[in-house]
Amino acid sequence: MINFARVNQNQQFNMTKITVAKGDGIGPEIMDATLEIILAAGAKLEIDEIEVGEKVYLSGNTSGIAKESWDIIRRNKIFLKAPITTPQGGGYKSLNVTTRKFLGLYSNVRPCVSFHPFVRTKHPGMDLVIVRENEEDLYAGIEHQQTDEVVQCLKLISRPGCEKIVRYAFEYAKQYKRKKVTCFTKDNIMKQTDGLFHQVFDEIAKEYPEIENEHWIIDIGAAKMADTPEAFDVIVMPNLYGDVLSDIAAQIAGSVGLAGSANIGEECAMFEAIHGSAPRRAGQNLANPSGLLQGATMMLTHIGQTEVAEKVQNAWLRTIEEGVHTYDIFKEGVSTKKVGTKEFAQAVIANLGKKPETLKSVSYSKDSALKLPKYKRKPAAKKELVGVDLFVHWPGSNPDELAAKIEALNNPSAKLSMITNRGIKVWPEGFTETFCTDHWRCRFKPTEGNTINKMHIIQLLSQAITLNIDVIKTENLYAFDGKPAFSLGQGQ
Ligand code: NAD
Repeated sequence: MINFARVNQNQQFNMTKITVAKGDGIGPEIMDATLEIILAAGAKLEIDEIEVGEKVYLSGNTSGIAKESWDIIRRNKIFLKAPITTPQGGGYKSLNVTTRKFLGLYSNVRPCVSFHPFVRTKHPGMDLVIVRENEEDLYAGIEHQQTDEVVQCLKLISRPGCEKIVRYAFEYAKQYKRKKVTCFTKDNIMKQTDGLFHQVFDEIAKEYPEIENEHWIIDIGAAKMADTPEAFDVIVMPNLYGDVLSDIAAQIAGSVGLAGSANIGEECAMFEAIHGSAPRRAGQNLANPSGLLQGATMMLTHIGQTEVAEKVQNAWLRTIEEGVHTYDIFKEGVSTKKVGTKEFAQAVIANLGKKPETLKSVSYSKDSALKLPKYKRKPAAKKELVGVDLFVHWPGSNPDELAAKIEALNNPSAKLSMITNRGIKVWPEGFTETFCTDHWRCRFKPTEGNTINKMHIIQLLSQAITLNIDVIKTENLYAFDGKPAFSLGQGQ
């Protein structure tokens, strides 16, 4: 572990301590260039450097980061990270996913802007920001194989998760003077999970009447974004959709190599480029440091050094429009000079204090980091058990045959009301055409005039053992404040 402090001369006061990891491949070159630019612009930083990535992985640490490095990151709270190489082969955990989850970095912010006519793009007017929920959804990583034929991944969406990310999107829009926040979900299908995200979006949007809001179903919303990105401003969405769409948005802006991203939590934050470690380009003074520089600029606004951020960003825009380009964006007729990583950094430094002439210059709010209120838990709703789903592993194919077996579990309090296979109702009155796997959901509801309790569920389960029925999991069915809070079988 390297651990040293670098202090910008003449700026002894109001220093912010940050942790820096130079990463792998092109990482060290683009990090050196980035630090040189921001320190030349007057960033007041004290830097602790840690080692993460390939060497740490290959030393036998499957998470790619040592315990002492975690201590430094947690102490400094601000982390500027260059891309790393995850070695091929199994067993190595993604450092990015681990960092986001351990540090509670719930918000991933990715501006996707086109720099027409200096960088080729089909969307000259594109200037949008994707705010992606970063901790939950299918990324909770809770997966199980339940039968020979079926595996499952739990999609967890929480009210605090939704409130934090949606509020962050609106506060971001307010601070950066953006006019509209759009929400993408698939709540026409996932009425509980995406339904909650959309519901919270509608609730919080009301608190920001000055900002326009809208909701799109993700499929048509994504198509619209790819076709007419100018129609969007800030877009907020759950984790998986955000993962996919933020790469598409960066690509169609024409600038994967030019985009940075911020991962923001209540305590800590991590800033990076969106691209990888490009090992083939490493050590040749070829790489474009712009993506990491964009990440560093977001870091400077986050820690309240907005004037430095503004100076860096305007000098960078000026350099891009002067046509001083690294190989990846160099284009005959548009670019004026092909430069390496170091020369590009020097060109940006030479432009510090200047503003772009064609591209729009930036002016950041002097407010420091967005401060969001702490999540306040709502009063508990009235929760009532109204049934249970028993998931059964059964290798047969005729639902009527299974229903006859399962109905033997019926007792005076609970009886079989429905069987579904992959969510489609197959009993009673299923279609013979429906393809069935070996994974069946058998729903028990209270008998006429009765209620169901957990003892009844235990009775169902112990009777299932007696009858040799392989129940692989149960899911209780609840109503919250009288409203059923579970999905019906498709076809019901
Ligand atoms: P990559 O982003 O490293 O490279 C894709 C292409 O873009 C290559 O042709 C590369 O030469 C070019 N490129 C990327 N960044 C560039 C830059 N700054 N300047 C000039 N050209 C640039 O993607 P990859 O090749 O799929 O992945 C390489 C490694 O990076 C893998 O080990 C992967 O796991 C890792 N990775 C790390 C991160 C991260 O740490 N955040 C993200 C993505 C990939």
